[in-house]
Amino acid sequence: MRKPIIAANWKMNKTLSEAVAFVETIKDRLPSAETVDAVICAPAVFLDALVKETRDGQIAIGAQNMYFEDNGAFTGEISPVMLKDLGVKYVIIGHSERRSLFGESDADVNKKMRAAFTHGLVPILCVGETLEQRESGQTEALVEKQVTEALKGLTKKEAASTVIAYEPIWAIGTGKTASAQDANAVCAHIRQTVGHLYDENTADTIRIQYGGSVKPGNIRELLSESDIDGALVGGASLDPTSFLQLLEASQS
Ligand code: PGA
Repeated sequence: MRKPIIAANWKMNKTLSEAVAFVETIKDRLPSAETVDAVICAPAVFLDALVKETRDGQIAIGAQNMYFEDNGAFTGEISPVMLKDLGVKYVIIGHSERRSLFGESDADVNKKMRAAFTHGLVPILCVGETLEQRESGQTEALVEKQVTEALKGLTKKEAASTVIAYEPIWAIGTGKTASAQDANAVCAHIRQTVGHLYDENTADTIRIQYGGSVKPGNIRELLSESDIDGALVGGASLDPTSFLQLLEASQS
């Protein structure tokens, strides 16, 4: 059985005091960490405070991006060494906003995936198609390529512990969700791709999230599908009550 994993992707939102207040609000009301993994991927400037705030608790903290080098003349970037040193556990890699707004390529994504594992961080690898790509029937080939390129050079063990987030770009922040069946079909295809690249055991172990307008009202249906093991949530993760509802709904 794969344990559900619900990750908040706050994107570029909140101030430090709002971020800390959020964690204080949910800290003692979380479902057991044995039934669901709760992750908050926060802006880099809040990570230190949030790791300290959650040290004794059941929430893991993640970054939303990082560079692949350990250190050096890369003004404005943050390295995996720095994240690990803070006590950060997860890092989102290749979110569609990074790919489309900041020009990240599959090759960059692969370097970041390798760097994450070198430093003991768990990557949440994002893949997904545009509306145009979906309408022209390219979805499966595209996610297959994104997954294959991203996992290049990773061991079986590393691949198995990766979290993949399937996020159709047309569903992100738009209020449009892929139907649970459509989302599941793509997640199943991703799992099959991992099986071909590695083996059945790796494919059975890897956790695949769906992302794109997930809310307390639709998460149950999505998670009831065979190949959806969690969610990467933007808008609906910004409110503590809604985030708690997402976690609660993912347990049953
Ligand atoms: P959304 O964002 O839940 O606001 O659609 C999801 C994401 O981009 O990770």
